[in-house]
Amino acid sequence: MYKFYFNRVKNKYELNELVRMFLPASEYELVDEEIYSADPDIKLINIPDEIEDKNEAKRYLFNVLKHYTGFKPDWGILTGVRPVKLAGEIIKETNSIQRTKEILMNDYYTTEAKADLILKTWGNQQKVIADLDKRAIAIYIGIPFCPTRCIYCSFPSNQADEEAIKDYLKALYKEIEYVSREVEKKGWYAESVYIGGGTPTILSDSDINELLIKLVSLLDTSKLKEFTVEAGRPDTITYNKLKIIKDFGVGRICINPQSMKESTLNRIGRNHKPADIVQAFEIAQKVGFDVINADLIAGLPGEKPKDFIDSLTEIIRLRPGNITVHTLAVKRASRLKEEDEEYSYNKGNTVRAMLDEGSSLLEDSGYRPYYLYRQKQMAGNFENVGYSLPGKECIFNIRTIEDNQTIIALGAGGISKIWFPEENRIERIPNVSNYKIYIDRIDEMIKRKRDGMFAIEEDV
Ligand code: SF4
Repeated sequence: MYKFYFNRVKNKYELNELVRMFLPASEYELVDEEIYSADPDIKLINIPDEIEDKNEAKRYLFNVLKHYTGFKPDWGILTGVRPVKLAGEIIKETNSIQRTKEILMNDYYTTEAKADLILKTWGNQQKVIADLDKRAIAIYIGIPFCPTRCIYCSFPSNQADEEAIKDYLKALYKEIEYVSREVEKKGWYAESVYIGGGTPTILSDSDINELLIKLVSLLDTSKLKEFTVEAGRPDTITYNKLKIIKDFGVGRICINPQSMKESTLNRIGRNHKPADIVQAFEIAQKVGFDVINADLIAGLPGEKPKDFIDSLTEIIRLRPGNITVHTLAVKRASRLKEEDEEYSYNKGNTVRAMLDEGSSLLEDSGYRPYYLYRQKQMAGNFENVGYSLPGKECIFNIRTIEDNQTIIALGAGGISKIWFPEENRIERIPNVSNYKIYIDRIDEMIKRKRDGMFAIEEDV
């Protein structure tokens, strides 16, 4: 067990994030000055007085931790969620991709591979998001229900009966009605709509039909560039349902295999087989969507690098427009966290091998990285990367991850973000995540939006 006392650290939270890249939480403790003074065994990490700059302090700590652990994290001192956004800011300052790469490697200590990944992703984004209209917003609608709960899930996902779902939809319609009216009054318009979850396709054919009728009749969708529905679980997909969705103008759907290995699907709590995933793709291709996204997870319980690469190979064979490779994030609210406290840390080397081979395979197959983000508690502290065939990139994903657009999130668990471009800042307005409380307190959710978003004077 390492015990550290860091003098002169202003942001303890950020420091903790950095230490966590080197050591599992059970193997270190950060103590305060009082405990340090009473225990001679505690290591003092003495940040020299002349170090003023935050990044310089982080570099110093990085080198100390590297010395103690013999380990050098691929992401260097970058602990933030949006490394591509940071790179974009450096590119703006330096006007040079090469110089930015040097800064990422020399000042932020990333490996060359991560610096290249960041810059490739940034480059591929520019073609898609170059024309930014400040009046264009994104709309997210959450359907927080799933057939079963996956072992790693930390999203709003509930198993509910039809009656409860209908009550939820009623409350949601109220919010859709309010938001659509206010968006129009503000002179904003929806550039993209994303119906996510949970699993929206768990809704019956008639419920999904009604939801889409409400949405397209209330919200002005005439300037929509992209309309996505998550059909995440193959066990909720039928030809009829997808046909209804397609007829309302949805061009992009997500079918999320996560793995193509049957024993893994069983282990993570899914009640479908790999053959169901293939069948769901065939149905979606028959209905004729512009883009299908497939999510895969690196670092699932029991999987070796070969299992992940076999799944990826099968998915590539199905030729979806987007493939999103997530690194498993073991959050506090998941069952997996309860089972193995140090899961994320222990999986580091396995995930590195999966991601390294996976990215080469994807690029050799014509896919390009176009959005990237990191989360807390990711196995090995790696990243999530969205890959796309050229021209199929998802606008919603890029804009929301880069935090450069107002997003209005409706439904339980939705977190709206107002973007203030002049100040380059985001303000969050959350809905409650429990769907029953959401139904009970729908008027308060609407009031939150009115006070925090529509009543403000600023020209966003
Ligand atoms: S499909 Fe997604 S939202 Fe539903 S239980 Fe699994 S991880 Fe959670």
